[in-house]
Amino acid sequence: MYQGQCLCGSVQFKLHQKITDIVMCHCSECRKVQGTAFATNGNVRNENFEFISGENTLTEFKENANKSRFFCKTCGSPVMAKLKNNPDHTRIRLGTITNDIIEPIEKHIFTGSKANWDNICDNVTQHKEW
Ligand SMILES: [Zn+2]
Ligand SMILES: [Zn+2]
Repeated sequence: MYQGQCLCGSVQFKLHQKITDIVMCHCSECRKVQGTAFATNGNVRNENFEFISGENTLTEFKENANKSRFFCKTCGSPVMAKLKNNPDHTRIRLGTITNDIIEPIEKHIFTGSKANWDNICDNVTQHKEW
């Protein structure tokens, strides 16, 4: 259904379901991780996430007790996150998806802490936090 990969192509994967819970997160952590104004992320169930290649090329960064972020150790692309409080899902960084994404973005979150140079110019619902 969807195919994704990191910038260098080492990490490649398929998603076998629609992407759910799509948000644009403007929090300060997402800014650091992405190196830009916000992150766009969505969920798939773990059983619907399939590696084609590069699982061993991912490096895990344990950000806190709940969250691990996984990025390509060759090119640095952020690929996914795993949350201990949502163990059945993999949270995908949607910039890694190669196809057009059909599911709509549900909301902007953490707009209360967005960068002053981050101008939101669409009509998607905004939340100051979650
Ligand atoms: Zn890579
Ligand atoms: Zn965030």
